[in-house]
Amino acid sequence: MGDKIKKTDNGFRNPHNLPTKICAGCGKPFTWRKKWERDWETVRFCSDACRKEGARE
Ligand SMILES: [Zn+2]
Repeated sequence: MGDKIKKTDNGFRNPHNLPTKICAGCGKPFTWRKKWERDWETVRFCSDACRKEGARE
């Protein structure tokens, strides 16, 4: 109640203010995850499924 959640232009919610990227596979925004803490710079896909899709080209 009375809790305003700030939305970005595309409506993607990021309650913890974590870094985000746009997935090169599905084009949707995704949020930083613990498992990516060492290679977030090079992460391009939100999931293994998208990475496989992207790897095909
Ligand atoms: Zn994706």
